[in-house]
Amino acid sequence: MENVRSVRRAVAVEVESPPPGLYAVEEAYRRIVEEVAVYVAERGTLEREKYNELYRRFRELYPWLYSQLIQQAMNQGVEAGRSFLEARRDGRVRKPRPEVRWVSMRFAKDSWSYRKTAASAAPVRLALSLPGGRREVWIKPHRRLWLYWWKALRGEAELASTLMVKRRRGRWYAIFVFDVQPRGEPPAEAVAFDVNENSVAVARVSLLATVDAVARWNRQYINPAVYSIRTDFGRLAKRYEAVRGRKLEELKRRYPYARRDGDGRRQNATDTREFRRFAGRLRERRRKDARAKQVAREVARSPAVIVTEELGKNPQEGMIGLEEKKVERRELRHRIKQIPFKKLVGAVEGKAAERGSVVVYVSPYRNSKVCPIHFAKLEDGGDWHTLRCPHGHDVDRDHAAVLNMLWKTAPAGWMKAV
Ligand SMILES: [Zn+2]
Repeated sequence: MENVRSVRRAVAVEVESPPPGLYAVEEAYRRIVEEVAVYVAERGTLEREKYNELYRRFRELYPWLYSQLIQQAMNQGVEAGRSFLEARRDGRVRKPRPEVRWVSMRFAKDSWSYRKTAASAAPVRLALSLPGGRREVWIKPHRRLWLYWWKALRGEAELASTLMVKRRRGRWYAIFVFDVQPRGEPPAEAVAFDVNENSVAVARVSLLATVDAVARWNRQYINPAVYSIRTDFGRLAKRYEAVRGRKLEELKRRYPYARRDGDGRRQNATDTREFRRFAGRLRERRRKDARAKQVAREVARSPAVIVTEELGKNPQEGMIGLEEKKVERRELRHRIKQIPFKKLVGAVEGKAAERGSVVVYVSPYRNSKVCPIHFAKLEDGGDWHTLRCPHGHDVDRDHAAVLNMLWKTAPAGWMKAV
């Protein structure tokens, strides 16, 4: 295939009995990142001379720190400083200066056993430049690492020369980065997906099995598989909302007088440290991410032409606008706002790129109002989910939407892809 861009994939593997030197390196690295980030946040840039001056000073301060690690930390500091400035411009942070609490250290190719590791058939042991020289560390490879490693051995992926090393909850991880070549198989299916409150509707048409029907373009003879994947994003949001609500009530009862801060502003219980920690421990975001990835794997499981709705700037508002009558209650509005539309589409795009699939976007206009077989206007069928076609059959609203989305793309385009 011409001009295919590779996809980056990071795989974290735990380090077995980490050498104590790692902690010292991490602390020195963090300080360098922070100092450079603060400098860049104040001046907006790091001049060449200043870079050299700082570099010399860090070398004196940390003579045992491998020089490439100092450079990597400085570069990371520049990035951190720039993104701090950007975040402050957008009003996402109010702090006066960047704080760097934890870092992913970047071991560039000479500061770890890159060449030796990349050439080995099985990565079980690495060497890192730590205080006192190279230290061997053992890692605990797992299925996902093997998967990418085998791809690398077959020439379908390439191990990047920078290894990241970071600590999370007392454990150390080595993070390998692979540049994966997308698979070159032609798409075998056209797949459409549509995100709903608690499920994702999917419609698949096998292009190979129905080449004739598609070529004659008679949708009555094409038999797509239509099904839903449960996501429960709405239910999840509702449950978390209830748990958070109970905690807020508890905090208000416990601190009835702590409602005004020093400036006399009303202090919201959600601003308290205790509440933020509590909300953080709920891991709502991580569960959402895991579900989005699961959907992406299912939707993009084979090479396909993948069709979905073009998301506006604010897809949640769009959904609320379209279904205005149904979305009256505040609570339901909140749940719809919690559906991670963009995260889901982003995850599908990532998987699709890896499989060599194409993602096509169509307009959301009238997707759930027309019969996907007869192209007749659908009528209300009594309940929210069932609609009636004048040709005498019922249609599931979600299925109509996803099928109509599929029909919006030209079958000629699918055929060209095969
Ligand atoms: Zn019909």
